Amino acid sequence: MRRLLGVPVAMHDFGKTMLVCRMHHEIPHEGVAREWFGHGQTRALLPLDEHTVSLVLTVTGHEAAKLHALNEDAFARDIEARLERRLGAMRLVGTRHTYPLVAIWARQLVGPGFALVGDAAVGMHPVTAHGFNLGLASADRLAATLGDALARQRGVADPAALARYQRQHRAGALPLFLGTGMIVGLYTDDRPLAQPLRHAIIGGIRRLRPLRDVLAAAVVDAPPPQTLLGLMRSVARFDPRPLPHQGEAALTDSDGFFVRCTP
Ligand SMILES: Cc1cc2nc3c(=O)[nH]c(=O)nc-3n(C[C@H](O)[C@H](O)[C@H](O)COP(=O)(O)OP(=O)(O)OC[C@H]3O[C@@H](n4cnc5c(N)ncnc54)[C@H](O)[C@@H]3O)c2cc1C
Repeated sequence: MRRLLGVPVAMHDFGKTMLVCRMHHEIPHEGVAREWFGHGQTRALLPLDEHTVSLVLTVTGHEAAKLHALNEDAFARDIEARLERRLGAMRLVGTRHTYPLVAIWARQLVGPGFALVGDAAVGMHPVTAHGFNLGLASADRLAATLGDALARQRGVADPAALARYQRQHRAGALPLFLGTGMIVGLYTDDRPLAQPLRHAIIGGIRRLRPLRDVLAAAVVDAPPPQTLLGLMRSVARFDPRPLPHQGEAALTDSDGFFVRCTP
């Protein structure tokens, strides 16, 4: 549709393929979403019911094709090994799917009689697990802007209202889009110096609580006022509680990045 409308995009092709499937596992995941960045692969586990996760494995296209072709038992043994048996014995549930890993930033979100929302507007690397939320935010921003236009007796295709939506959504999406890109760059650089650099940066972030709080808030897409309030509290040490958002992001000093989901 975006192409039919002639909208250009800035696209970054990460050159990797994501293999996605559901896996049943022996050890309960306890509601924790996990992500490991390893040499040449990223492994993500998103909790479903107590003994089932959605696995997102990011590898080369060649490796994804090989994994896709394995029989179910061989596939499960391969995944257990890649996950260092953290969830014990595993079994494939359902089918495997592969997707090319690309990030997209549409050069325009609106035009005569149309507006882009969701991944058609901004498509991110799934590392921060926020593409869906960003899509919902775009629909919410568009609905609010058009509702306002209708209340002022203007049509839903009012160019000024569409332009306002574009401004608002870009401003809201940019920090998350750039932050996601930085995290991906930091964790997927396989050059020898990258790992010590990563440890130094993560170590620094762990010691600087205000910076850590802002980073955590960005990852869970806390609204800017909450982030600012949390930062001020954190700096002034008025309130040692974590930021008031719905999840907790934690950086580990190993090559892992974990987002703990609260039910
Ligand atoms: C592997 C992976 C893991 C992810 N993990 C997370 C996560 O943990 N958390 C998170 O928030 N986000 C995650 N995302 C991102 C999230 O899935 C997307 O941001 C979200 O699905 C975008 O929703 P959408 O409705 O904009 O687009 P889509 O979900 O892509 O829906 C678009 C629909 O339009 C259909 N379509 C396309 N062209 C046409 C046409 N011409 N005519 C009719 N129909 C058409 C498509 O078939 C599709 O059904 C992940 C993405 C991937 C690929």
